[in-house]
Amino acid sequence: MKSFLVYNVSMCLRRKIFAHAKELFEIDPGFFTSNNVRVLLIDLDNTLDSYRLYTPTDRSRGYIKRLQDAGITPFIISNNKGKRVSAYANELGLEYLHSAGKPFARKIKKLVKERGWKVNELMIVGDQMVTDAGMANKANIRMVLTDKIVKEDQWTTHFNRLLDRPMRKRAVRKGQLKDWRTLYGKD
Ligand SMILES: [Mg+2]
Repeated sequence: MKSFLVYNVSMCLRRKIFAHAKELFEIDPGFFTSNNVRVLLIDLDNTLDSYRLYTPTDRSRGYIKRLQDAGITPFIISNNKGKRVSAYANELGLEYLHSAGKPFARKIKKLVKERGWKVNELMIVGDQMVTDAGMANKANIRMVLTDKIVKEDQWTTHFNRLLDRPMRKRAVRKGQLKDWRTLYGKD
């Protein structure tokens, strides 16, 4: 019984990561287009900006523009509440899904269906193994994992962070966190 439980917990914590980047902003948009990405689903808190910021930084604005210039549609997908997510996304003129329920994939699957998106033309970028990568894996969408960009997290994230570290360590040990540049053929 005990080993069954341990097995199930470890299965739950296993994640498949397509690529890793220190932060979203270092990724050449060509990496996404060369991987056939049309819509990039981007986590908000600690991927684009700190959860304390209600308006996007210039860095975030600039990068979103670069993606759009490359023909990619950025789409914000956040577990945070509507008010916070809409304020931020509206400033960027982006569509969004708030209260996304990550790591569960029910809402994203519904959205993919409604929009008529093809999963092989999507990628998810996020800073969390448990939630972002969890949803991506369940929905069969390629996952780009980033490090968090600022130190502070919302209290709701603290528990996930406890799991995040060993999950990352495990992925590194198994050679499963490939830097995006290696996949893009650049150093
Ligand atoms: Mg996040």
